Amino acid sequence: MEDIRRYSLPQLRVFFEQHGEKSFRAKQVYEWLWQKGARNFDEMTNLSKQTRAMLAEHFFIHSLEVYTTQKSSDGTMKFGFKLHDGFIVEGVMIPAPDRRTACISSQVGCNVGCSFCATGKLGFKRNLSAGEIFDQVVEISRWAEKEGSRLTNIVMMGQGEPLLNVDNVLLAIDRITAADGLAMSPRRLTLSTSGIVRNIKELADQQVRFNLAVSLHAANDVKRSEIMRINDTYPLAELGEALVYFHEKTGSRVTFEYLMLRGINDTLEDAQELAQYCKQLPVKINLIEYNSTDDLRFAKSYSKTSAAFLAYLESKNLIVNLRRSKGEDIDGACGQLANKLTMIKE
Ligand code: SAH
Ligand code: SF4
Repeated sequence: MEDIRRYSLPQLRVFFEQHGEKSFRAKQVYEWLWQKGARNFDEMTNLSKQTRAMLAEHFFIHSLEVYTTQKSSDGTMKFGFKLHDGFIVEGVMIPAPDRRTACISSQVGCNVGCSFCATGKLGFKRNLSAGEIFDQVVEISRWAEKEGSRLTNIVMMGQGEPLLNVDNVLLAIDRITAADGLAMSPRRLTLSTSGIVRNIKELADQQVRFNLAVSLHAANDVKRSEIMRINDTYPLAELGEALVYFHEKTGSRVTFEYLMLRGINDTLEDAQELAQYCKQLPVKINLIEYNSTDDLRFAKSYSKTSAAFLAYLESKNLIVNLRRSKGEDIDGACGQLANKLTMIKE
């Protein structure tokens, strides 16, 4: 048995021909999979019963199901998605006056081990398939439509490090943005990475059209390595070089995410180092409010400190936003996605 969503359209055509079927059927199946979000072969009602049975003999569709939903007082909605093997991953829908953003996961858990992140504490369980990444968008879209709105933006900032599952992530993004997929604009999709340099170069070479965000959190190697051990493998100089290359190849402006951790990375000296680091390429900076996890070593910066940090960066003509957290009361904010129910034993 194989995952039918690993098959390209030409591969499906070949499969149909080899099984004595008309090759145009492949297109119908492909539409069911990537435009209509079919969860099983029985939904494919323009195929005969025999054809559906034949497909079910060769292939599986491991769709995910909405298992839990929680709504925050600010309207943020958190979804627990149950995977075919019992794992749970989380996705979030964040409403704003002008947009509706889905925050989706790329792995069950994560092994990058950033010390401020609840997902990191879970450890790594497995990669999500392209279909499972895609399905989160389908399910969140369906939810938005039920509420009379439409999903407009996607951020890959849920559980997991997308660039350590890069094949599946790129296939899912292709299907989310393709004209014969969900046809969402790549300009409205952002992939966030802790800075896996070798794969940033790969994205650059592929000249991807979506936005790239990098979790920087410190512009000094000693400090960054303390909170993000990935910095030992890919230190700031290498990361900067890869990002300059990314900018040259794609022309797009990278976003730096910078978590404001009280007394750790929020002094004026830290702001100076950040401003210096940003000189390499055109960037946008999102200062992020830390969301509490169980770890008592960290606390969010005082608002006065954050304001001074922001003012300094603005004085250096940098584009900076201070992002307030959303959905904190349901643990639905960034870095809080570590469902206590990670695995459901059936
Ligand atoms: N692995 C990717 C994407 C998922 S994490 C990455 O690290 O970029 C998404 C964002 O949430 C990252 O910027 C991450 O640093 C941030 N984050 C992690 N823990 C957080 C916390 N406790 N509070 C606020 N943001 C957090
Ligand atoms: Fe993984 Fe991102 Fe959390 Fe770091 S911040 S542990 S890379 S999910």
